[in-house]
Amino acid sequence: MVREQIIQRGIQDQRVIQAMERVPRHRFVPPEQQARAYTDRPLSIDCNQTISQPYIVAFMTEAAHITSDSVVLEIGTGSGYQAAVLAELAKQVYSLERIPSLAEQAKQNLQALGYRNVEIRQGDGYQGWPEHAPYDAIVVTAAPPTLPPLLLDQLAIGGTLVVPVGEGSQSLLILGRTAQGFVQKGSFPVQFVPML
Ligand code: SAH
Repeated sequence: MVREQIIQRGIQDQRVIQAMERVPRHRFVPPEQQARAYTDRPLSIDCNQTISQPYIVAFMTEAAHITSDSVVLEIGTGSGYQAAVLAELAKQVYSLERIPSLAEQAKQNLQALGYRNVEIRQGDGYQGWPEHAPYDAIVVTAAPPTLPPLLLDQLAIGGTLVVPVGEGSQSLLILGRTAQGFVQKGSFPVQFVPML
């Protein structure tokens, strides 16, 4: 998976590549999907949600510029896979999930896999998680129709927000925050489940 889908398609950050090598994707999908865990596809998880395609997880992680000092917020825990990849790189990850059973399942799974620097909470991603703000990176893995203002507020100066925006056709926006405001660093067509 890492050689053919991640490195060949242009991911260069060695820390991201190593994180993708370490996280066992098959532990984040339902048993009937395990044989497909390392294919280049999003897969179904419980509650009609999906675990993102591995390349997209790597791309978003690389775009977020995470260091071992970073405090990161993820919106849309889902299976917890993206949270695990972020936790390999960051100091601390906070992840919000709307659906209680998914939040609980991901929490137990990450704990069983030994991740101690991820905290998961059931909640509404549009509110963010103000108690731990500002975040060095915010990674949103469900698509809001427009940029959520409270997430912009909770991004640190010098931080990066990676978010798929739009209804129907979506663009993955990469926004940096400077003392002067927000700067768009990139945009890329994607397909995520809607942020509700
Ligand atoms: N990052 C996940 C994939 C996310 S799928 C992984 O690695 O597996 C998108 C997730 O966003 C779904 O689980 C969905 O329930 C959640 N979601 C949708 N709207 C949300 C909202 N407003 N707040 C928090 N989570 C939301």
